[in-house]
Amino acid sequence: MGYHLGRFHPTSTAPYPPLSIVDFIKKLLGNVAGDSGSAPVQAPASQPAAASGVRIYSRSEHNISRAFISESSLKVLYRLRKAGYEAYLVGGCVRDLLLGREPKDFDVATNAEPEEVRRVFRNCRLIGRRFRLAHVFFGEHIVEVATFRASSGDDGERVLENGRILRDNVYGSIEEDAWRRDFTVNALYYNIADFTVVDYVGGMEDHKAGVLRLIGQPEQRYREDPVRMLRAVRFAVKLGFSIHPSCCEPIPRLAHLLADIPSARLYEEVIKLLLSGYGVQTFEQLRHYGLFAMLFPDTDACLDREPEGFPLTFLAKALEDTDVRIQDDKSVAPFFLFAALLWEPVRLLAQERIEAGDNDVFAYQEAGSEVVSRLTRRIAIPRSVGLPMRELWSLQPRLERNTGGRPFKLMGHPKFRAAYDFLVLRAETGEADPDLAAWWTRFQGAGESEQKSMTREGARRRRGGRPRRRRSKPATAQHPPAV
Ligand code: ATP
Ligand code: MG
Repeated sequence: MGYHLGRFHPTSTAPYPPLSIVDFIKKLLGNVAGDSGSAPVQAPASQPAAASGVRIYSRSEHNISRAFISESSLKVLYRLRKAGYEAYLVGGCVRDLLLGREPKDFDVATNAEPEEVRRVFRNCRLIGRRFRLAHVFFGEHIVEVATFRASSGDDGERVLENGRILRDNVYGSIEEDAWRRDFTVNALYYNIADFTVVDYVGGMEDHKAGVLRLIGQPEQRYREDPVRMLRAVRFAVKLGFSIHPSCCEPIPRLAHLLADIPSARLYEEVIKLLLSGYGVQTFEQLRHYGLFAMLFPDTDACLDREPEGFPLTFLAKALEDTDVRIQDDKSVAPFFLFAALLWEPVRLLAQERIEAGDNDVFAYQEAGSEVVSRLTRRIAIPRSVGLPMRELWSLQPRLERNTGGRPFKLMGHPKFRAAYDFLVLRAETGEADPDLAAWWTRFQGAGESEQKSMTREGARRRRGGRPRRRRSKPATAQHPPAV
């Protein structure tokens, strides 16, 4: 099933040229088959260096203008060309430029080998073990230059284990380089020699149709690198594209393969998935495809237990607030979002401990440590994220003690503001006491004498346990997470 996310679908995209009559008939036949883009894209059985089925889009047939390409990457492209090499922009930047969006970074592909690239640039360093890449430095700005690589032919450089690529360093032609990439729309090359876009895999047609399609056999491509399943979701949401049906179907079946991915790589991917401004939709899609359970199994189990309940509302609200902050160009700290993602399992475990007689702050500390250490086997959360998360959780029961000198002391805690924001979020979604959240909001804005009188009373509320569930928004002041 194609899962089209219409909301973000860019409507005014590239001014593509009118279709040729052959293309028109092809498209018509494709539509008759009930499919925006027919069968999976297959690499030619043998991949000759000479282009087979390449389509070249001239400058007048696409909308990529050099005005939108970073100066430093243009310098790299021109310099490589002057030195007699081929030089292209490739990947996400071409895809994003075609949508009229500003790319995150510009990747350069060339037929020059890394050592040759180094000879062309003085400001260059070679990096990478799995892939040898050249980094060309322009002050703080880095342009990544990769040599065309092939993916087929086991000539000893490419190492596979259970169908998964471990090492992949075979240089190849541009065509081979195109076929080893993940999605057709990520395999378009912008040629600095004549400003054309070179397309070996039908990426331009898919781009035009808003379709995300793996190159080659979807199942095999997912097995080679299961992270491609996460990338499919990420790009579909970010671009407003639909995932081609042939590429949707295997995901729920193969989601379990994420268990083999190194935890450090998964952390990077999760950050890209949830902290790129489309967290809510990405979360929904990850759940839809059974991928979320592979990333956050404890949380997923809680969500399943209460399918429409407040853990879901809480998480959706946390993601929504984060998305809004990113769209407003405000900073977001991963620890706050991770704290929200793991809150429900931590809360349940802490409640169990409290019922068994543990002190509440201690219960939250222990529950936090346990849940974080279980997660880090899958997703390598760095200490700089894990520590503040645990602090934030154990501050939650402390926020309930709002009499005497304790509130004053608590306000001086380095994570107070984040803990307060977290409490507000909990109250807004019906899990924490809204009166308590409102009390803290008032307390922070109050003068000294009012504060003193407030700490004599505290908030009139039930202590411990879960307060009344609320479905409507309570009247607490709303603060975005100050992280
Ligand atoms: P973003 O906007 O997130 O940077 P991107 O498409 O540039 O998107 P990158 O991770 O920067 O993504 O990768 C650059 C290019 O490298 C991709 O466009 C794709 O062609 C190729 N690529 C990256 N990861 C994979 C992968 N796992 N398998 C195959 N090709 C990949
Ligand atoms: Mg990129």
